[in-house]
Parts: sequence; structure tokens; C-alpha cells
Amino acid sequence: METKHNAQKDAFGKPLPRGSCPLCGYVFDAASDCYGKDRPKPGDLSLCLSCGAVLVFDDGMIPILPQAGDLEKLDSLTHRQILRAQRAILEMRAKNYPNGLPQR
Ligand SMILES: [Zn+2]
Repeated sequence: METKHNAQKDAFGKPLPRGSCPLCGYVFDAASDCYGKDRPKPGDLSLCLSCGAVLVFDDGMIPILPQAGDLEKLDSLTHRQILRAQRAILEMRAKNYPNGLPQR
């Protein structure tokens, strides 16, 4: 199991910068892959744990929205994994916030 300390580092062992989701504003400074094995690097996809948006790490490891066509390059297995993870995020959100997200 990945520790929080490790979850706050990129693939090169550098601390992940504090970033926020460009869609919902959720702030985060940690990331994890589905299996807790790999650390993110520039160009890797990520999902916002608040709204499920698909994001990509830029060269400074800031999560940004993908460019047009970025998602079209993905294979069908990756597409299915993204959809499954988004469904889990939205189910968790509905369970934890049945009346909507708290105001920021
Ligand atoms: Zn978001």
C-alpha cells in the first residue's frame, strides 16, 4: 500500500506541486495510480477525485485539461478503466454529499 508521503512525489522523486482541478477547483498535492505502483510523470493522465474530470500532468506536473485528441489515442482498455473510475468517483460523491458539494 502506498503511503501518503510517497503519493506526494512524482516519478522522479520530486514533490508534486499543489494543483487544482481546472473544472471544479478541487485542490490536491498527491496522486496515485490504480494499483499504487507507479508515480506520475509529465503527460500522464489523472482523474479529479471530486468531479471525475480527466486531467493530464503538464511539464511542471500541474494537472491541466487534455488537448483535443489526447483521449482519442488511448486504447479501449484504458477508456474502460477511466469510465469505471469516474463512475466510482461519482458514486462516492453522491454517497458523501447527497445534497451536493459544500460551497467553497
Ligand atoms: Zn474536479
